[in-house]
Amino acid sequence: MALSFEQARACVLREVSAGRGSLPTEQIPSLEAAGRVLAEEITADRDYPPFPRSARDGFAVRASDLPGELHVIGEVRAGEVFRGLVGPGGAVEIMTGAPLPEGADAVVMVEHTERAGDRIKVARSLQSGENFNAQGIEARHGSVVLSPGRRLGFAEIALLAMVGRECSTVYKRPRVAILPTGDEIVEAGQQPEPFQIRNSNAWSMAVQVARAGGDPRILPIARDNYESTRHLIEQGLDADLLLLSGGVSAGKYDIVERVLADLGAKFFFDRVLVQPGQPLVFGTVHEKFFFGLPGNPASTMVTFEVFARAAVELLGGAQEAPLRLLQAQLSKDLRQKPGLTRFLPAQVSADGSTVAPEPWQGSGDLNSLARANAFLVIEPDRESWAAGDLIRVLLK
Ligand code: AMP
Ligand code: MG
Repeated sequence: MALSFEQARACVLREVSAGRGSLPTEQIPSLEAAGRVLAEEITADRDYPPFPRSARDGFAVRASDLPGELHVIGEVRAGEVFRGLVGPGGAVEIMTGAPLPEGADAVVMVEHTERAGDRIKVARSLQSGENFNAQGIEARHGSVVLSPGRRLGFAEIALLAMVGRECSTVYKRPRVAILPTGDEIVEAGQQPEPFQIRNSNAWSMAVQVARAGGDPRILPIARDNYESTRHLIEQGLDADLLLLSGGVSAGKYDIVERVLADLGAKFFFDRVLVQPGQPLVFGTVHEKFFFGLPGNPASTMVTFEVFARAAVELLGGAQEAPLRLLQAQLSKDLRQKPGLTRFLPAQVSADGSTVAPEPWQGSGDLNSLARANAFLVIEPDRESWAAGDLIRVLLK
């Protein structure tokens, strides 16, 4: 059954979200949790900020005293507390990060004051609440600051440090078996015969899997015969997800689908109206999800990026697995035959505003893919674009 790009993506998201069951978790040091997905709710251990915190260097004052002349009764720096009270006509010199003294309700910036001995003159007026952060304004004690399903980046990990969580519970990385197929394929360390090709797909997939939060395991190359393919697929089913490359086209020796069918696989689709990557297979076998990605390097990379990556992310506990799309202006006119959603290697300008197609020789052209920093996403129902038109771009 052939699906459109959108239908196939929706199918992957739906099936994996529904079928992933309860995912295993582990406790790890938060500092090592970058890229992992949080499996627990994180709450604020106290108010944030924990005290009314000055946002400026200046003077803590009573706003109703301004404009006017004030008496400086003391000083408070970050890490200290002022023990007295700011009464009418009083001010306390205050540094950024210091707690606002009692009685004060605003901070006047030092730049807006004129000082003479223990007196300051302030020419402008000030609102109550200006230039400090009220206690608990960022997060209340006990409120949720991070929810399960969130991927942890530098800001989230800083938040874990802020609330004192040296360790946190995250989802385990899904184990992803990578199974290259093909009689013509030899390992990257080998000297190929003139009619052989080195196995580059296993490496690109391993990098893509790791980047999506998975734990890649590369299997030996399956030969294009039933026994070899079946034996290695069975090995791959130990993992949480099986990714095959090659052997899913209509050729006489493309036997991946036959082996999977014999193992009792359920196929959600086996053709998607995309290029590169039409003969893409997705299903479950022995309660594990699998993808049969077409073997051309561009097909393998693109179909991983737009379909399998979401499965790895969801199996890793992510709540969502969106595509990283943006819009940019096309650098030159473009014509494409309609009917397929196409992903063409492209170069987005450094400021993200324009995009140029990268010259390429078709699905086997790894050089073009290495030069590109993005893919143009060509809609299936449109034939021509003019230079300057906005077009969708998928970041690489
Ligand atoms: P297939 O999908 O098996 O028909 O393969 C399509 C094309 O991709 C063929 O030209 C293969 O040589 C090439 N190919 C298949 N597997 C790999 C691989 N693991 N690494 C690099 N190229 C591959
Ligand atoms: Mg093949």
